[in-house]
Amino acid sequence: MQNFSYIVEDDETNEAIIMDPSWDLIELELIIKKNDLKIKYIVNTHHHFDHTLGNKAMAELTKAPIIQHESSELKHDISVKDGDSIDFGNSKLKVLHTPGHSKDGICLIGDGKLFSGDTLFVGNCGRIDLPGGSAKELYHSLFDVLYSLDDDLIMYPGHNYGNSEISTIGQEKTTNMIMQKRTEQQFIEMMG
Ligand SMILES: [Zn+2]
Repeated sequence: MQNFSYIVEDDETNEAIIMDPSWDLIELELIIKKNDLKIKYIVNTHHHFDHTLGNKAMAELTKAPIIQHESSELKHDISVKDGDSIDFGNSKLKVLHTPGHSKDGICLIGDGKLFSGDTLFVGNCGRIDLPGGSAKELYHSLFDVLYSLDDDLIMYPGHNYGNSEISTIGQEKTTNMIMQKRTEQQFIEMMG
């Protein structure tokens, strides 16, 4: 499924967060130990199993609480909503609620970076045909939320589905077929 898990470290302390632990848990554990990271939170961009499979093992390893959007029905310790901030060390990432692929989808933004989960991929967007998916909601998440962000933001998606692992918002606005300007109705028709 080519999922990406991310570990984001605060440079000035060794506090860090793990985002979407799923398949390569041994690799994640090695990175944590090698860099002597103190994991403050485990954060899921949404509840789908391929983004949360490693929650239990990582929570046992790190003792860190699990953060998800308040609308998630999956087991978690801390609920967040749009505009909340996730702080670790001297760093913070802001929560953007971006439903459409999933009701509880969030993106995280901070320090020139955007973690876009399954809302936006390099060259594509998340599917809308799973339970809780909605083309209409995805349209508003993409065009009212992500489209207005700084072009220079480096985008780190939830899957390796594009022709590169990362991108920028500006690059996606020009090259991603999904991000071309459409009305809500045109977008819904295109998504089928
Ligand atoms: Zn998903």
